[in-house]
Amino acid sequence: MLDISGTTRVVGIIGQPVSHSLSPVLLNAAFAACGLDMTYVALPVAPDGLGDAVRGICALGFVGANVTIPHKTAVLPFLAAVEGDAGFLAAVNTIVVEAGQARGFNTDVEGFRRALREVDSGSLAGASALLLGAGGAARAVALVLAREGARLTVANRTLAAAEELVVRIDRFGAGGPHRALALDGLAAENVRAADIIVNATSLGMVGEGKVPAVLVDNVRQEHSVYDVVYAGQPTEFVALARERGARAIDGLSMLVWQAAAAFELWTGVAAPVDVMRSAIGR
Ligand code: NAP
Repeated sequence: MLDISGTTRVVGIIGQPVSHSLSPVLLNAAFAACGLDMTYVALPVAPDGLGDAVRGICALGFVGANVTIPHKTAVLPFLAAVEGDAGFLAAVNTIVVEAGQARGFNTDVEGFRRALREVDSGSLAGASALLLGAGGAARAVALVLAREGARLTVANRTLAAAEELVVRIDRFGAGGPHRALALDGLAAENVRAADIIVNATSLGMVGEGKVPAVLVDNVRQEHSVYDVVYAGQPTEFVALARERGARAIDGLSMLVWQAAAAFELWTGVAAPVDVMRSAIGR
């Protein structure tokens, strides 16, 4: 039984849809483990209600919120401030409400940085990274890989979005040289030349299609593979990469680490990461 009283503080997740989100399970377990009088709820919000939703969480005295698909970029104009990586990436996944003002952060960057260490603990300076995707998750991944000194090949269905991401990362001035590629132009040699492969598209999510065959067919034991997509079990891409001997993990670890970073922003308390992992069966 949740112990909700007249003093319980609220955090929510704003998105559409949000009913499938694992964040309430992760964060309510964390609040309980730390003895915090806080609760976390899913808040379905349509795009035309986003401004009202942000003003609403401020007016209602929420501690903050997570922001997910499709609002991570659209939320920016409704915030009083956008901090650190969130400004650079133009994507916010965490809001902190202080003195009635909403400040935006991006903890997907820290989430991927910590998760990456679980699949590849070595230096990535000068390493070659193949990144599939150029959306919100891919931008966070690209920033981490570039900061680690990797050379990125960004392959995306919409080439213009991959090119825009490469320009953004070039401006940041780390790693490189980086280049953009159309996903349907991805060739076996692009896969074989990579040291690390990250799928940051929606491909592999239920109902979203599969990652390209050329990718799966050319994964080797030498590769480190990270799939930001998560499902109940390892994604098909992760399972196939493991069959080929690669070190491969799915997006649940990033999910836990981004939630842990958000928890710390809201509470100032070290996140109980083991509790959070076991709350989602990891
Ligand atoms: P997004 O901003 O909407 O980007 C979606 C990306 O997937 C774009 O690059 C898009 O290409 C590509 N894509 C979508 N459908 C495709 C298709 N049929 N064929 C080829 N490419 C396709 O979404 P996002 O926020 O980046 O999320 C992407 C995935 O990451 C989702 O599965 C999400 O659940 C996951 N995610 C996981 C975490 C975590 O903590 N593990 C955090 C954030 C997101 P175009 O540019 O051509 O549209």
